[in-house]
Amino acid sequence: MNFSNELSFAAEADEKDPLKHFRKKFFIPKHTDGSDVIYLAGNSLGLQPKTVKDYLEQELKDWAEFAVEGHTKAKNPWLAYHEYLTSQTAKIVGAKNEEVVNMNSLTTNLHLLFVSFYRPEKNKHKILIESNSFPSDYYAVESQIKYHGYDVAESLIEIRPREGEDKVRTEDIEELIEREGDEIALIWMAGVNYYSGQAFEMEKIVKAGHKKNCIVGFDLAHAAGNIELKLHEWDADFAVWCNYKYLNGGPGAIGGAFVNERHLNDRTIPKLLGWWGHDKKTRFLMDHKYIPIPTAESWQLSNPPILQLASLRASLDIFEEAGMSALRKKSEMLTSYMEYLIKEESNSGIQIITPAEKNERGCQLSLRIAENGKAKFRRLLDRGVICDWREPDVIRAAPVPLYNSFEDVKRFVGILLEG
Ligand SMILES: *Cc1c(COP(=O)(O)O)cnc(C)c1O
Repeated sequence: MNFSNELSFAAEADEKDPLKHFRKKFFIPKHTDGSDVIYLAGNSLGLQPKTVKDYLEQELKDWAEFAVEGHTKAKNPWLAYHEYLTSQTAKIVGAKNEEVVNMNSLTTNLHLLFVSFYRPEKNKHKILIESNSFPSDYYAVESQIKYHGYDVAESLIEIRPREGEDKVRTEDIEELIEREGDEIALIWMAGVNYYSGQAFEMEKIVKAGHKKNCIVGFDLAHAAGNIELKLHEWDADFAVWCNYKYLNGGPGAIGGAFVNERHLNDRTIPKLLGWWGHDKKTRFLMDHKYIPIPTAESWQLSNPPILQLASLRASLDIFEEAGMSALRKKSEMLTSYMEYLIKEESNSGIQIITPAEKNERGCQLSLRIAENGKAKFRRLLDRGVICDWREPDVIRAAPVPLYNSFEDVKRFVGILLEG
């Protein structure tokens, strides 16, 4: 696509956008002057689909009308409610239906799946992570190492960009795995790094890891609903994500998890159990003879929060309608357009630290601001732009294809470059 700096370009691109009508399906917060804010924080909390209320009201109504009998008599019987989200979830992460489940929340699922997939041994006990991993992941990994009686200084390896660079080169990840893989039990990386916006080449990482007999898992918090994922085809061992960022499930939404088909019926894998992982046909016999569901659902512990599932379902129905490949196509254009407009101004003092390669980023651009970054960020907020600030010097801006427009991007960059 040939971009132009003219205002008319944004208007025309919006007009031609086959997904433009999706914006109307979301509530866009208002600025103090009554106009729509320029919302570029869908990487932190996705907007509310207008249909969420109906999905919730249905369940409130059935709760009022049926109480406990709603488990079987509700319009959408609660006993099976999480199953209504399975195939759409599977499509979003590129998995088979039996490989995914929505349950708990991200960090909780991380710990639950680490119980199964981080099994350190004397000579193979290390975990490889990114040096700028999200704090919750870092704390979780650190505590898992200690929980197993190992020393963090010896068991945690961090991969970082080369001196003077911002992205971690795939070749460096592969080389490190080749060199130290014999001692690595688990490779735990983001799909898309929350800070830099770098999308990792997951397929290559899995391949390098498996060659060295390492388990390879991914945190897809910033990848799910953002980039196209093929977890099954790439042969990842397991993954977790949250549903409140790009997936618009609402604040603190129920999380998602993937377990590769290959591990589903492996009874040698340790697992923490609860009654919701037990075979559905015999669950209510209450007989203390555990039979696992032969899918990722067997990692469930409790009966799930129906209201949470209902609000996520409203958003997944919208994703289903739009389709990930169409979303991704628009996403690449929106982000490239933002990049183009920022680069048009050569003396802006703004450096884009997100990789320029399309296969190494999602929609987010991370902008390193040379001077007065915080003042610039505050001015953006004052002018009705919602983006975020990450210490020490980065503004993150994520144009989301479901509800952001080319005009949003044009106006954002205009305000950003004002001074
Ligand atoms: C958003 C995010 C989290 C948040 O964890 P919760 O358990 O949902 O609070 C964790 N890890 C990463 C990489 C994230 O981006």
